[in-house]
Amino acid sequence: MTPDILLAGAGLANGLIALALRAARPDLRVLLLDRAAGPSDGHTWSCHDPDLSPEWLARLKPLRRGNWSDQEVRFPRHARRLRTGYGSLDGAALARAVLDAGAQIRWNSDIVALDAQGATLACGTRIEAGAVLDGRGAQPSRHLTVGFQKFVGVELETDAPHGVPRPMIMDATVTQEDGYRFIYLLPFSSTRILIEDTRYSDGGDLDDDALAAASHDYARARGWTGAEVRRERGILPIALAHDAAGFWDDHATGAVPVGLRAGFFHPVTGYSLPYAARVADVVAGLPGAPTTDAARAAIRDFALARARQDRFLRLLNRMLFRGCAPERRYTLLQRFYRMPEGLIERFYAGRLTLADQLRIVTGKPPIPIGTAIRCLPERPLLKEDA
Ligand SMILES: Cc1cc2nc3c(=O)[nH]c(=O)nc-3n(C[C@H](O)[C@H](O)[C@H](O)COP(=O)(O)OP(=O)(O)OC[C@H]3O[C@@H](n4cnc5c(N)ncnc54)[C@H](O)[C@@H]3O)c2cc1C
Repeated sequence: MTPDILLAGAGLANGLIALALRAARPDLRVLLLDRAAGPSDGHTWSCHDPDLSPEWLARLKPLRRGNWSDQEVRFPRHARRLRTGYGSLDGAALARAVLDAGAQIRWNSDIVALDAQGATLACGTRIEAGAVLDGRGAQPSRHLTVGFQKFVGVELETDAPHGVPRPMIMDATVTQEDGYRFIYLLPFSSTRILIEDTRYSDGGDLDDDALAAASHDYARARGWTGAEVRRERGILPIALAHDAAGFWDDHATGAVPVGLRAGFFHPVTGYSLPYAARVADVVAGLPGAPTTDAARAAIRDFALARARQDRFLRLLNRMLFRGCAPERRYTLLQRFYRMPEGLIERFYAGRLTLADQLRIVTGKPPIPIGTAIRCLPERPLLKEDA
């Protein structure tokens, strides 16, 4: 079978593209290739419900491993429950949905060469398609300057109910170390909980054992005993400066990058699910028989518009990473979480209005005004990496 669209990588971005494509264009043959033996259990892809369009929320909600109607945060001087829904998807459920939608996934397919016409696998097989997208995960780019969100999560089956009723997006009452540190909790059932020690750090090195031990220490301090049943780790990029036009000039030929590879992630959280859903809609909306060039043009347009919209979020990151001493970073988040709930939702959804932006930076300045002004320009940070 010659596919109409070849998706390199069967992870989050391409999984959502396959779902959207098969829903909008059941006539198209969609093939995903992945070098892994099967879907990863090393992920829980979560997001706030308002991050997704109503259509995507309706599509993903039944697939999600967890759906919660509210969430909370905790800081040394502020705690809050928010009525915003939250949910988590895992790799197995996404892969199942992709197959159910009629796309094909070929596991154990290590791509050694990829171009605008197709892929060559390590075994020598060549597969060609009308359109070729590259969703093989993050890749450093000289057009993107980043800080890091690093975490190790341990999922525990607790001996007794843990008593956590809803996601704890940030418990920043823990000792501040290696930048902004907080614990993230996802209670999948009354005795199943993910405990993730997270740090917003300048360096991308991750001491897995130390962070896993810290997550276990947190569990012990809360009185939870039980067995670790799963572990996940991540070093996510946090965008300080981004030259999207430069990135796309470098990708004017070849397969079209999508997902983290194309810089499609929320600049402050590093989360890519909501952006991946929007890119999937762009691909599903391509007219006629999709080609690599048509996909590139549409995705590039989306990327440039997105990068413009995200300018303010990158400024906030520069204030957090370059304008604030690592042990004081939590104060910016503590202040942010006093804002109206609608603004917080729009922040995570990447839909801040101008009024929201003004509200975030006015009032009692979170960092000295001189320091804030020094954080304004984005270009010099890109030159550092060039
Ligand atoms: C542990 C963890 C938790 C995360 N949690 C969240 C979250 O809760 N919410 C959120 O929005 N984001 C989350 N993220 C961030 C981000 O959304 C994910 O990393 C997401 O998986 C990125 O999607 P992607 O499609 O770009 O890459 P991936 O989902 O990583 O997919 C890339 C795929 O390409 C395959 N591949 C790579 N090279 C080749 C090759 N040569 N040949 C064939 N296949 C190849 C890989 O096997 C992989 O399956 C998390 C990241 C991690 C690491």
